[in-house]
Amino acid sequence: MAKIACKCGHIINLIIHPSPDEFKIISSETMDSLHEQSVLENVFDVIRLENDDMYKCPACSRLIIFWKQNNNLPSLYKPESFD
Ligand SMILES: [Zn+2]
Repeated sequence: MAKIACKCGHIINLIIHPSPDEFKIISSETMDSLHEQSVLENVFDVIRLENDDMYKCPACSRLIIFWKQNNNLPSLYKPESFD
């Protein structure tokens, strides 16, 4: 999947890396485990392999998250106000 269409119609390129619209979601448990890594390269490997990929649509701010526990299928989240 090289591109994905946000519900607003904006096309997000998933190939461009690094991208200002791409983020990594990493659990605090995994973050804490990084202290056990003595080599910086291993830290990056853990972050690369044990995270969920998230993209923020630059047009509407929806979040598209590829949860590993959901076989990396994309889920869409729309911002809501607290009002
Ligand atoms: Zn959008």
